Amino acid sequence: MNHLTPQQIEELKQMLIEWKNRIIEDTKAQTGEALSFEGSDEMERAEAETNRIITLRTLDRERKLLKKIENTLLKIEYGVYGICESCGAQIPYERLKARPVASLCINCKLKQEEEEE
Ligand SMILES: [Zn+2]
Repeated sequence: MNHLTPQQIEELKQMLIEWKNRIIEDTKAQTGEALSFEGSDEMERAEAETNRIITLRTLDRERKLLKKIENTLLKIEYGVYGICESCGAQIPYERLKARPVASLCINCKLKQEEEEE
Protein backbone atom coordinates (compact mmCIF):
# COMPACT_ATOMS: atom_id res chain seq x y z
CA MET A 1 0.00 0.00 0.00
CA ASN A 2 1.49 3.29 -1.04
CA HIS A 3 1.41 6.26 1.33
CA LEU A 4 1.39 8.71 -1.58
CA THR A 5 -1.80 9.70 -3.33
CA PRO A 6 -2.01 9.12 -7.10
CA GLN A 7 -1.93 12.91 -7.55
CA GLN A 8 1.26 13.23 -5.53
CA ILE A 9 2.89 10.43 -7.50
CA GLU A 10 1.81 12.03 -10.76
CA GLU A 11 3.25 15.37 -9.63
CA LEU A 12 6.60 13.83 -8.68
CA LYS A 13 6.65 11.86 -11.90
CA GLN A 14 6.20 15.07 -13.92
CA MET A 15 9.03 16.68 -11.93
CA LEU A 16 11.29 13.74 -12.74
CA ILE A 17 10.42 13.78 -16.43
CA GLU A 18 11.04 17.52 -16.70
CA TRP A 19 14.30 17.17 -14.80
CA LYS A 20 15.39 14.37 -17.10
CA ASN A 21 14.60 16.37 -20.24
CA ARG A 22 16.46 19.38 -18.88
CA ILE A 23 19.58 17.33 -18.21
CA ILE A 24 19.43 15.80 -21.68
CA GLU A 25 19.17 19.28 -23.25
CA ASP A 26 22.03 20.61 -21.07
CA THR A 27 24.20 17.67 -21.87
CA LYS A 28 23.67 18.10 -25.59
CA ALA A 29 24.52 21.81 -25.47
CA GLN A 30 27.62 21.28 -23.34
CA THR A 31 28.97 18.42 -25.36
CA GLY A 32 28.65 20.37 -28.58
CA GLU A 33 30.40 23.42 -27.15
CA ALA A 34 33.24 21.61 -25.45
CA LEU A 35 34.05 19.32 -28.31
CA SER A 36 33.87 21.85 -31.12
CA PHE A 37 36.06 24.55 -29.57
CA GLU A 38 39.66 24.09 -30.62
CA GLY A 39 41.38 27.39 -29.90
CA SER A 40 43.89 29.15 -32.12
CA ASP A 41 46.99 29.33 -29.93
CA GLU A 42 48.69 27.26 -27.25
CA MET A 43 46.93 28.93 -24.33
CA GLU A 44 43.50 28.69 -25.86
CA ARG A 45 44.10 25.07 -26.66
CA ALA A 46 45.18 24.39 -23.08
CA GLU A 47 42.08 26.16 -21.87
CA ALA A 48 39.91 24.19 -24.27
CA GLU A 49 41.47 21.02 -22.94
CA THR A 50 40.73 22.01 -19.34
CA ASN A 51 37.16 22.85 -20.26
CA ARG A 52 36.79 19.54 -21.97
CA ILE A 53 37.89 17.70 -18.85
CA ILE A 54 35.51 19.71 -16.69
CA THR A 55 32.71 19.06 -19.15
CA LEU A 56 33.40 15.35 -19.22
CA ARG A 57 33.33 15.26 -15.44
CA THR A 58 30.03 17.12 -15.38
CA LEU A 59 28.66 14.82 -18.06
CA ASP A 60 29.67 11.82 -16.02
CA ARG A 61 27.84 13.21 -13.00
CA GLU A 62 24.80 14.01 -15.10
CA ARG A 63 24.82 10.55 -16.63
CA LYS A 64 24.69 9.04 -13.15
CA LEU A 65 21.89 11.39 -12.18
CA LEU A 66 20.01 10.45 -15.34
CA LYS A 67 20.34 6.80 -14.41
CA LYS A 68 18.96 7.59 -10.97
CA ILE A 69 16.01 9.42 -12.49
CA GLU A 70 15.36 6.50 -14.86
CA ASN A 71 15.42 4.06 -11.95
CA THR A 72 13.07 6.26 -9.98
CA LEU A 73 10.63 6.42 -12.89
CA LEU A 74 10.77 2.61 -13.05
CA LYS A 75 9.96 2.43 -9.36
CA ILE A 76 6.91 4.58 -9.97
CA GLU A 77 5.97 2.19 -12.77
CA TYR A 78 6.23 -0.80 -10.44
CA GLY A 79 4.45 0.95 -7.59
CA VAL A 80 7.37 0.80 -5.16
CA TYR A 81 8.22 4.49 -5.24
CA GLY A 82 8.80 6.33 -1.96
CA ILE A 83 9.93 3.24 -0.04
CA CYS A 84 13.32 3.34 1.68
CA GLU A 85 15.65 0.87 -0.05
CA SER A 86 17.44 0.13 3.18
CA CYS A 87 14.76 -0.29 5.86
CA GLY A 88 11.50 -0.30 3.90
CA ALA A 89 10.12 2.78 5.64
CA GLN A 90 7.87 5.15 3.76
CA ILE A 91 9.63 8.29 2.61
CA PRO A 92 7.41 11.33 3.30
CA TYR A 93 6.04 13.29 0.38
CA GLU A 94 7.83 16.45 1.57
CA ARG A 95 11.20 14.75 1.32
CA LEU A 96 10.42 13.36 -2.12
CA LYS A 97 9.28 16.74 -3.30
CA ALA A 98 12.59 18.29 -2.23
CA ARG A 99 14.52 15.40 -3.74
CA PRO A 100 12.41 13.23 -6.05
CA VAL A 101 15.22 10.70 -6.57
CA ALA A 102 15.64 10.02 -2.84
CA SER A 103 15.83 6.27 -2.32
CA LEU A 104 16.51 6.29 1.42
CA CYS A 105 14.48 7.62 4.33
CA ILE A 106 16.09 10.43 6.28
CA ASN A 107 17.32 8.08 9.05
CA CYS A 108 19.08 5.72 6.67
CA LYS A 109 20.47 8.64 4.71
CA LEU A 110 22.03 10.13 7.84
CA LYS A 111 23.41 6.75 8.85
CA GLN A 112 24.93 6.30 5.40
CA GLU A 113 26.55 9.73 5.53
CA GLU A 114 28.06 8.95 8.94
CA GLU A 115 29.56 5.77 7.59
CA GLU A 116 30.99 7.53 4.59
CA GLU A 117 32.84 10.08 6.69
ZN1 LIG B 1 15.29 3.73 5.89
